[in-house]
Amino acid sequence: MEKRDILSCSLQELESYFTQNGHPKFRAKQVFRWLHVDRVRDFEKMTNLSAQLRAQLDENFYITSLKIKKRLVSDLDNTVKYLYGLSDGEYIESVLMHYHYGNSLCISTQVGCKMGCRFCASTIAGYVRNLRPSEILEQIYMAEQDSGQAVSTVVLMGIGEPLDNFDHVLRFLDLLSSPEGHQMSLRHVTISTCGLVDKIYELAEKKLGITLTVSLHAPNDEIRSASMPVNRKWNIDQVLAACKYYAEKTGRRVSFEYALIRNVNDKEEHARQLLTRLKGMLCHVNLIPVNEVAERRSLYRTAPQANVRRFQEILQSGGINTTVRRTLGADINAACGQLRREEAGRERGCMLDENCGNHGYRIVT
Ligand code: SAH
Repeated sequence: MEKRDILSCSLQELESYFTQNGHPKFRAKQVFRWLHVDRVRDFEKMTNLSAQLRAQLDENFYITSLKIKKRLVSDLDNTVKYLYGLSDGEYIESVLMHYHYGNSLCISTQVGCKMGCRFCASTIAGYVRNLRPSEILEQIYMAEQDSGQAVSTVVLMGIGEPLDNFDHVLRFLDLLSSPEGHQMSLRHVTISTCGLVDKIYELAEKKLGITLTVSLHAPNDEIRSASMPVNRKWNIDQVLAACKYYAEKTGRRVSFEYALIRNVNDKEEHARQLLTRLKGMLCHVNLIPVNEVAERRSLYRTAPQANVRRFQEILQSGGINTTVRRTLGADINAACGQLRREEAGRERGCMLDENCGNHGYRIVT
């Protein structure tokens, strides 16, 4: 019989396992706490279980763990970027950022990505597989263990499209917020999507209290379809209708990410078009000077500072709450997908990104 991934199991699933195998139900809670509170990664260490039961668990289950392959610490702001190795030899990334209100961890949900956004490093080598709930969760547990600090907010904005791995993300949220586990309030979790409209509606129905962020990046369908293939399936009007529904259903303000790209979407006319579309909506816009990715540098260059400021002024003057994202970890390639690309390149004996040299940051592992 194939072993099961115990860290992805809900408490209810563990309860059924124990009762079906002739053990008292409370064993499930004990094991769940070992895994999610004490964070042991070896059945042998579960000392309130008999040796026989520990052996039985070892026969039927495995415990997911990630290996820290690399840890980059920014000299500018102490942002930490982790490159984690998975059991099948794949890599994912997480980024730990320190804010005045606590630590925020940006985590991955897939190995690679199918969405094909042209400016994004995560998508260049295509999609490999979904992460299991345990692999999503373990990124948080490992960062907490390694840094010795609690993670107070989590953003699903690393490699992958979270709504394309919907069921595993839902199970991850269930485990993360479990009263017997990490107990994180889902109000402290943000999901970022490129706009999978059907799943935005499904998520709204669940009323989990999660903040939804949508990667918009364009004021009209022509520009958006040229850089984000998903827009050909669900256009901006459809995305915005789904966001309005989400805001009404959950009472939560939706955020939009808008990466400003020189000569593509950074002009005053683009700001005005965007303003017309968003006017009156319960929302927030986060402007991001686009992070240049080596393979795409000829197409996507960072917008000039002056255009970023002007863009913000226009949206603000129209009553749209707008911030410009502070770049954290700029010296350690903290943008999603860049480190994983570099690692894959090194294994093939080439450097994919000239910015990835070992300067400007401290490699600690
Ligand atoms: N698939 C999800 C989450 C992962 S991408 C999504 O699309 O939202 C996380 C965020 O980084 C998205 O807003 C994405 O559009 C943005 N992003 C990707 N590449 C970028 C780049 N080169 N510069 C700035 N932002 C980028």
